[in-house]
Amino acid sequence: MMPERRARICAVITDPTVSAARARMRSAAEVADLIELRLDYLRDFDFNEPERVGALLDGKPLPVIVTCRSVDEGGQQKIDEAARLRLLAEAARRGADYCDIEAAHYDKAAAAQLDSSRLIVSYHNFAESPADLANIYERVVRLPAAIHKIVVRANDISDTLKIFQLLDRAAAEHRPLIAIAMQEAGMLTRILGPSRGSFLTFGSLARGHESAPGQVTCDDLRDLYHIQTLSDETQIVGVIGKPVSHSASPLMHNRAFQEMGLSFVYLPLEVSEVGDFFRRFVNPATREMAWRLRGFSVTIPHKTAVIPYLDELDETARRIGAVNTVVVEGDRLIGYNTDSHGVIAPLAAVADLQGARCAVIGAGGSARAVIFGLLERGARVAVFARNPAKAAALTSEFGVAVDPIEAIADSDAEIIINTTPVGMLNHQEGQSVIPRTAWRNRKVAYDLIYNPLETRFLTDAREQGCRALGGIEMLAAQAARQFELWTGRKPSVELMRAAALEKFRLRSSAT
Ligand code: NAP
Repeated sequence: MMPERRARICAVITDPTVSAARARMRSAAEVADLIELRLDYLRDFDFNEPERVGALLDGKPLPVIVTCRSVDEGGQQKIDEAARLRLLAEAARRGADYCDIEAAHYDKAAAAQLDSSRLIVSYHNFAESPADLANIYERVVRLPAAIHKIVVRANDISDTLKIFQLLDRAAAEHRPLIAIAMQEAGMLTRILGPSRGSFLTFGSLARGHESAPGQVTCDDLRDLYHIQTLSDETQIVGVIGKPVSHSASPLMHNRAFQEMGLSFVYLPLEVSEVGDFFRRFVNPATREMAWRLRGFSVTIPHKTAVIPYLDELDETARRIGAVNTVVVEGDRLIGYNTDSHGVIAPLAAVADLQGARCAVIGAGGSARAVIFGLLERGARVAVFARNPAKAAALTSEFGVAVDPIEAIADSDAEIIINTTPVGMLNHQEGQSVIPRTAWRNRKVAYDLIYNPLETRFLTDAREQGCRALGGIEMLAAQAARQFELWTGRKPSVELMRAAALEKFRLRSSAT
């Protein structure tokens, strides 16, 4: 029997041996509602002895979809077509709840007398989301089956619109449909699909065990995105950027939403074309996506590109010249910059900034947020950049002196802030942008880098008796301010910080 819950998670089993697949099916029962058994992944299975599929189906812990994918639609090995069909028929006889057959091979399945009341008829396109997807849908649903399935590749987030249109249409026609767009740009369909009528969404049982690009783990579908609780009423926020899959923001925000019982979900939204995204997904007057979008975070490379599409900018975003937060207020789009608050709040908690002598190293986007925030608090600011001529605009805009980085040795700064990527993971990691000797007689070191948590810049400073602050403090503080802008409620910064730490630990254990 199928579980009655509206959002079904189907764990995909992609193990190479029968015994490993059996063990994985048992663990799937803890996180999923169904299992898809991908027989084409098995390396120790004799496809000429179909009755052996019984070893996988006996005592199955959940309803099972048996799939033995053909190579032309993503199958892992070439299997004789007649043997493949015999295997599916045998699986159905031995208790499989559904068997999946590609629409392109449907005629042979009909000839093999596969029971259509237990068939899933599927269509896959690994290259694109075809323009004539509606025609493809019509052709696929003409083939008698219990459920139809359409899986395409999203080359851009706008491709997901076609998938949501199909789900609306299938709901109106009372047809059970699974519709998914693959790749990071299509992740939206995997998370929101079930709340929009998709019969199920697929999930992997562990990172690295995905059966298709962009697949989310069952754990994340359940515990991070809470897909069981999503509905038309859920307010949507997210992060737009490219890439976004590394971001700690979904964990920080979703944890806080859950902790405070708010009906919001925060999604990773891989966006390439900002203008297109605003027109088709954001602007209430033109958008094609029907959703309760409350706003989004903006990250690299879109922090300045979004500005022309906004109706209003708050004073901080205007002065800094960058937006990291958008709020949809009725039919108006308002841009904010919470990086400045994020960077200053943790520093102000450990040092009195009024009149404090501060050195900012670097002159890029985050340096502007730092300089603006420090000046607002009454600090005295000097900038040190590797290319002072390039950074000269900071003098006319903010009235700060810009010197070469080497000049830091002669500066009387008590607080030194690194806004360069020197010392970051995969970016001169283990190095510091200033020499160890530069730390004599300073009070506070602040590195905006959060990965790694402990940088050489901070270690050197600590060894000279300075107070050291890492970038994770900023990350949590800027996120907390975004959360407030969208919800009107103050979250726990500590909870968000702990979530970010958890994300970085997960990421470093996966690499
Ligand atoms: P950005 O706009 O590219 O600016 C980087 C600055 O660093 C530029 O002034 C650049 O100089 C300078 N720089 C780069 N490599 C250098 C080197 N080898 N030696 C000396 N200077 C160098 O980047 P951003 O957005 O400001 O981000 C910078 C850092 O802040 C990143 O490490 C990022 O992880 C961190 N950050 C942290 C948070 C947080 O929440 N904790 C938020 C935002 C950013 P040129 O102009 O000469 O290239």
